[in-house]
Amino acid sequence: VETLPRLPIFEALSKHNPKSIAIVHSESGDKFTYDSLLSDTAKLKRKLLEKAKVDDLQEQRVALFVENGYNYVVSLLGIFAAGGIAVPLHPNHPPGELHYVAKNSAPTFILTHSKAHQAFPPSSSSPPILDLFEHPPNKPHDAPAPVDLSPAPDPLRGALMIYTSGTTGAPKGVVSTHKNLTTQAETLVTAWEMCKDDHLLHVLPLHHVHGIVNATLAPLFAGGAVEYLFPFNAQKIWSRFADTSRRPISLFMAVPTIYSRLIDSFETLSEPTRSAGRKNVSNLRLAVSGSAALPASTKRKWESLGGNLLERYGMTEIGMALSQRLPLTDRMANSVGWPLPGVGARLVSDGVEIKEVWQEGEIQIRGNSVFREYWQKEEATKKEFTQDGWFKTGDIAVRDERGAYYIKGRTSVDILKSGGEKISALEVEQELLELPQVAEAVVVGLTDERWGQRVAAALVLTPQGKSEEFDLVKMRAEMKKRAAEYKVPREIKILEAIPRNHMGKVNKKEIVREVFGEDEP
Ligand code: ATP
Ligand code: MG
Repeated sequence: VETLPRLPIFEALSKHNPKSIAIVHSESGDKFTYDSLLSDTAKLKRKLLEKAKVDDLQEQRVALFVENGYNYVVSLLGIFAAGGIAVPLHPNHPPGELHYVAKNSAPTFILTHSKAHQAFPPSSSSPPILDLFEHPPNKPHDAPAPVDLSPAPDPLRGALMIYTSGTTGAPKGVVSTHKNLTTQAETLVTAWEMCKDDHLLHVLPLHHVHGIVNATLAPLFAGGAVEYLFPFNAQKIWSRFADTSRRPISLFMAVPTIYSRLIDSFETLSEPTRSAGRKNVSNLRLAVSGSAALPASTKRKWESLGGNLLERYGMTEIGMALSQRLPLTDRMANSVGWPLPGVGARLVSDGVEIKEVWQEGEIQIRGNSVFREYWQKEEATKKEFTQDGWFKTGDIAVRDERGAYYIKGRTSVDILKSGGEKISALEVEQELLELPQVAEAVVVGLTDERWGQRVAAALVLTPQGKSEEFDLVKMRAEMKKRAAEYKVPREIKILEAIPRNHMGKVNKKEIVREVFGEDEP
C-alpha cells in the first residue's frame, strides 16, 4: 500500500470526502477526485525516491516544469511527500530566468512531461530530466489505490522554493518550510472563509505564491475544487463564467491587470455571454486582487459589473500578510486592510515603531508564515530581518484610524523625494488613472540636479486620450486640479504598452533606463 507522510496538508486532504472533486481542467472538463490526488501523489513520491535511491530526499531540490493542472499539483505534493524542496519553473518565466532558476536551485531532478523537454536541452551541466507521469495526461481513475499516512518529517523542513518576481533585482530563491506553507494556507482558509463548497477558477501562472499558495493549496486545505484555465485568455474566462451548464465559480483570484483586461473585454462579448458572465461575477462569493496595487478605477469598474473585490498584500517571503475583511461591507478603495489572523505587522520609521495614524513607515512582519531563508544567501537573509526578528518588507505604508493599511510603495523605487517633499509614486499613479485620457500609468523618479528627483510618468492613453492628443501640458493642467503641484509629473512618455511581467508587475528600474534613458546612478 502507498503511503504519505502525516504532514498537515496530507492530513487535511485525507479528511475530505474522497469522491469530492479536487482539480478540474477547465478546457477538457476532466475532473480529478481527492482520492485520486492522494493516490497519484503517493505513487509519484515512491517513484521519485526510487529514482533518487533514498528513503527521504532530505531537502534535495526537485524542480518541476509541468503545465497548470492535475499533474502540476501531483508533482508539487509528491515532492513535499518525498521530503524534497519543490522548485516551480514555469513556461512563463523568460527563458534566461528559467535557466537561471534551474541552475541556481541545483535540483537533483527536473520533473516534466516529455513534450516540455526541449525547454531544457540536455547538456552535461543540466540536471536529469524525469518524466514520471502516465501518458496520455492522467485521466481520472475509477478506483484509486488507498493511501496510508506514515510518520511525518520535521515541519521546519524546507518544502518549497519560489523565486521572487525579480522586480527590483535578480530573483532570489525563497525557502519556505512546511510549517510556513501550512500557516499561509490555513490563514487564508480562515480569513476568506474557504470551504468544501468553493470552486475556484485558477488563471494564474504557477511559480508564485499567488498561484501556488493562495489559489491552489488554500482551497485544497479547505476541501474545495480548483479549476485551471491557463494561459490567460479574457474571452475564455468570460465564457467559463457564462457557462451555466457547469458548476458556478465561487472564488476568483487575479492580479490587477487581469481584472482590467476582463473589464476591457466585457464590452466585446456577445449579449448572452455578457449577461450570463455578469451573473456569475455578481454571484462570486469572493474575488481577490493582489501582487500589485489595485487601481481604484479598476475596482470601481469591476464593482459596476456586480462583482465584489477584496484587496490583499503579500510577498513571496511572508505569504499574505494584510487583507480586507469579510464580509465586504464597506468600500475600502486603496486600502489593503488589516493584518491577517496570526500575522504580526508593524510600521517602523528610523528604527522606531509608529503608533500614529497616517504616518509612513516600513511594513515589518513576524509570525509562522515568514520564510526560513533566501537560498544560499545567508547574508541577504540576515540583512532583511531586524535584530528582534521582524522581516523588513521594504514596502512603505500608513494606517488609518481603524488600523487599516494603505501601501505607498517600495522604498527602492516608489518613494520619491522631490524638492524636499516625499512623494508616493503609487499615489500619483492612482491620480493619473482617474483621468479619462489615461489607461495605464507608471510613475518613476528621475535624477534631477535641482529637485533631487523629478517625477516622471510613462502612460498608455485611452482612445479618448489619443484622439485629444493628450500631452504634457494637458496632463499637467488636469493633474494640478487633483494633486499638489510637486506631485504632478514634469515629464511624460506615451507608450503603446507598458512592459509588464507575467504577474502584471512593472520593473521600474528598467522603465527609468529604457523608457527615460537614464543610467543607474
Ligand atoms: P523582487 O523581490 O525580486 O524585487 P517582487 O518583490 O516583486 O520581486 P514578489 O514577492 O512576488 O516579488 O512581490 C511582493 C511585492 O509585491 C511586495 O513587496 C509589494 O511591493 C508588491 N505587492 C503585493 N501586493 C500588493 C498590493 N496589494 N498593493 C501594492 N503592492 C503589492
Ligand atoms: Mg520583493
